[in-house]
Amino acid sequence: MKVFKFGGASVKSAEAVKNLTQIMKGYNENILVVVSAMGKTTNALEEIARLFFSEKSTAENYKALKDYHYGIVQELFPDKSNHVYTEMELVFEELLSVLKKQPSLSFDFDYDQIVSFGEIISTRIVAAYLNTSGIKVKFTDIRKYLKTDNTYREARIDWELSTGLVRKAFGFSDEKIYVTQGFIGSTINNLSTTLGREGSDYSAAILAYILDAESVTIWKDVPGVLNADPKWFDNTVRLEQLSYLDAIELSYYGATIIHPKTIKPLQNKNIKLHVKSFLNPHDGGTIIGDLSYESLIPCFIFKMDQVLIQISPLDFSFIAEENLKSIFGYFSRHGVKINLMQNSAISFQVCVNNDPSRVPNLLNELRKEFKVWYDTGRELVTIRYYDNSTIERVMVNKQLVLEQKSTRTIQLVVKDLGDK
Ligand code: ASP
Ligand code: MG
Repeated sequence: MKVFKFGGASVKSAEAVKNLTQIMKGYNENILVVVSAMGKTTNALEEIARLFFSEKSTAENYKALKDYHYGIVQELFPDKSNHVYTEMELVFEELLSVLKKQPSLSFDFDYDQIVSFGEIISTRIVAAYLNTSGIKVKFTDIRKYLKTDNTYREARIDWELSTGLVRKAFGFSDEKIYVTQGFIGSTINNLSTTLGREGSDYSAAILAYILDAESVTIWKDVPGVLNADPKWFDNTVRLEQLSYLDAIELSYYGATIIHPKTIKPLQNKNIKLHVKSFLNPHDGGTIIGDLSYESLIPCFIFKMDQVLIQISPLDFSFIAEENLKSIFGYFSRHGVKINLMQNSAISFQVCVNNDPSRVPNLLNELRKEFKVWYDTGRELVTIRYYDNSTIERVMVNKQLVLEQKSTRTIQLVVKDLGDK
């Protein structure tokens, strides 16, 4: 069997759902279809969760969410007697009854009880539309089978429990195609949980791992994995092949195409991952697997709005293990992720995202123990499979502030000279 994952953009409108159906018509095999919430639904539900938790009215936002989904449903199902209308009524009533309750004491808990509706609604619609279009599918609520701990908003999979349940649920004996949700699961007490934003890719990988899938295909609005984000680069190139290791490295350095947690379960069972365009489903896309090659075309990852922090001991002593231990402690307590670090005898430099809710507090704390100097407005460029000409290309009009090189990867902290 294969696992297909369709993200929010691939189901954002009636037209998109029709396109998904067209893609499914091209396959005649056992497929588990994992679907995200439609379009920007998760963001909309996050806002509803925030309003709910601060005891403000959610009525307007609830209505907008309902109107958006009903707009899609009405376009897809002109026949008002279609069962999907009853299903929609039930699911929106259920959401409304959650919103009528008092908030709990935990925002993260309430968030999961509310935000998980996005995937339930989208899969109801997608499953119904496939069935109406002559592709017989079974709608499955993954929360019955994918069990997690109760770390709401970042739930961890209970692999042992889930394995047995998922294998029983997706037997592929009477069914060829199942439609289920990405991103969500539930605790042993059946309380909804979510796996972290953009978690549907991870769901697809988990299910593929448990079911020993042949491959996973992530259908996206780009032609595959590109060597740079088109937002920063004009001449991007699609990578036809990528090793698991390179995929992990690229997402570690900040490439956003694949959720970093997705690759590991697939690599452990050598399950191939295809990234393909839902707009051009016949194009090759990218294949990620246990592949080897000498080299790859250079891949670029840009992180803008970086802060470079330099830390030295107050007494001008050397930076040693003791200082590093306390420095790392500050970063971890303030939840500031280090994008790059470099130490010398008397100072330690780090590059981090300029998060106004965390960095100023971190700097204040660090100042109690260290001499701290920082500079904002820096950019961090990572090039995997770099060569001199690619370095020159990214350095045009930039001043180099810090550089770190390994065999395959170079990281450059730069200052833009264009807007001094
Ligand atoms: N709907 C969720 C989100 O937007 C999960 C996903 O799309 O992967 O974060
Ligand atoms: Mg998404």
